[in-house]
Amino acid sequence: MILPGSNIVVGPYAGHSQIKEVEFVKSSGRAKDCPKDDRPEFAILGRSNVGKSSLINALVRKKELALTSKKPGKTQLINHFLVNKSWYIVDLPGYGFAKAPDVTRMDWSSFTKGYFLNRESLVGVLLLIDASVPPQKIDLDCANWLGRNNIPLTFVFTKCDKMKVAKGRRPDENIKSFQQLIRENYPHHPPWIMTSSVTGLGRDELLLHMSQLRNYWDQ
Ligand code: GDP
Repeated sequence: MILPGSNIVVGPYAGHSQIKEVEFVKSSGRAKDCPKDDRPEFAILGRSNVGKSSLINALVRKKELALTSKKPGKTQLINHFLVNKSWYIVDLPGYGFAKAPDVTRMDWSSFTKGYFLNRESLVGVLLLIDASVPPQKIDLDCANWLGRNNIPLTFVFTKCDKMKVAKGRRPDENIKSFQQLIRENYPHHPPWIMTSSVTGLGRDELLLHMSQLRNYWDQ
């Protein structure tokens, strides 16, 4: 079975996926300060304003959990949240501020790169892409950097409920364009899924996908 609004096949590793409890564990300024732990983790990453806090809160069904990372001084930190005492959601600093003059430049601190390259318990990255806007170079650069470094990722398209776009195209059209551009660099298309934190679209499917990846990783 393929999960609706995605290219993800549900296989034998799908298991318990709902989130019962979640606790904030730690903010780390350097990759080597992250919790010393071999429990599996997912890093959540995206451009500022992509809807990262909203998605994390929708996944865990709490209003303010991810806001920890939005408090002054916390935005540039790696924030670990422990879920069901068995795996982590990791909220990473957003990249590319929409109002910065050069939004196409990947302005990524070396510690974020260090995290990706050295975190052995990283199951995968959820790379959030705003489906209400056309493909952005900075997101493609990020996806290509992760691909070049063999870091597994899932494209999580956000704001898929936004059907009224003033000018331009609908989310499904933007997603198609994005995928065409990704094909140039990825011989096998990574998993992708459509979500909305407003309607709840894709929430349960994304959790199921994460449970499959965790269970597969555990084998
Ligand atoms: P962050 O900076 O990536 O953490 O983004 P936020 O979660 O703070 O969201 C940025 C803006 O996008 C806010 O105004 C949200 O209300 C809006 N937003 C986030 N997710 C969605 C969504 O799924 N649908 C719509 N329509 N708006 C969203």
